[in-house]
Amino acid sequence: MIESVIVFILGACWGSFLNVCIHRLPKDLSIVKPFSFCPKCKTPILWYDNIPLVSFLILRGKCRACKERIALRYPLVELITALLICALYRHFGLTPNFFKFSFFFSLLVVVSFIDIDYHAIPVYLCFIGIAVGLSWSVWETVRYMETNIPDPLALPFVKTLKNLILGFGFTYLFKFFGDCFISLYLSWRKKESIEGEKESLGLGDVDFMGMVAVFIGIKLAALVFFLAPFFAIIYSVFALIFKRSHLIPYLPYLSAAALTAFFWGDKILGLFFR
Ligand SMILES: [Zn+2]
Repeated sequence: MIESVIVFILGACWGSFLNVCIHRLPKDLSIVKPFSFCPKCKTPILWYDNIPLVSFLILRGKCRACKERIALRYPLVELITALLICALYRHFGLTPNFFKFSFFFSLLVVVSFIDIDYHAIPVYLCFIGIAVGLSWSVWETVRYMETNIPDPLALPFVKTLKNLILGFGFTYLFKFFGDCFISLYLSWRKKESIEGEKESLGLGDVDFMGMVAVFIGIKLAALVFFLAPFFAIIYSVFALIFKRSHLIPYLPYLSAAALTAFFWGDKILGLFFR
């Protein structure tokens, strides 16, 4: 119990750092300096006003200096991160995989919230994920070789590389056919674009799915691809009714689907393939 509380607190602090990343990475600002300040009155936020989750409640969601409202998403990101880190700790205990997937889940959080703000993400984010995933598999390969007779196809690095290529290929194929479908639709309706959009999936989605495949394997990544629309459809209905737009940031749904696939994917696949 006490362990879970500590992990939760550390997770919330980590979430606080992810907030900084979400806020500053798209603007090419340093994530280390300067310390946090109020976006409106620029007053530096002191340590006792910067305690994850707690400070938001004590300050009742307002800046101490200028009383400007603090966006609810700051504590939300902290809470989501803390819960995810706790879930991972229960899943893996304090093992190397705990750290590997904490990193992966953190990237999902950062990428999702940046996508909500900008409808795009810095290109390098998914590539950092892929690089870390591949490097990790190199380390696993070294450990594997110590205890097993090397079978080239069973090497973790080879498997991960295969996942990456399939993840890219699979998503790109969908993008290709989706784009064909859209250009047929546009020429049939004699339109230039759908609200300025001509693509079914962005290249960012392809990179993202490559990263997902590196971390959870191609089988679960394929599941992610089919689950995400179900998550998206709920929001899309809202967007259509209230904002009259067809455009939705897609990475949050892919991320939600990736988390679902990670924790329950094998069960879900078991329902369909026996
Ligand atoms: Zn302020």
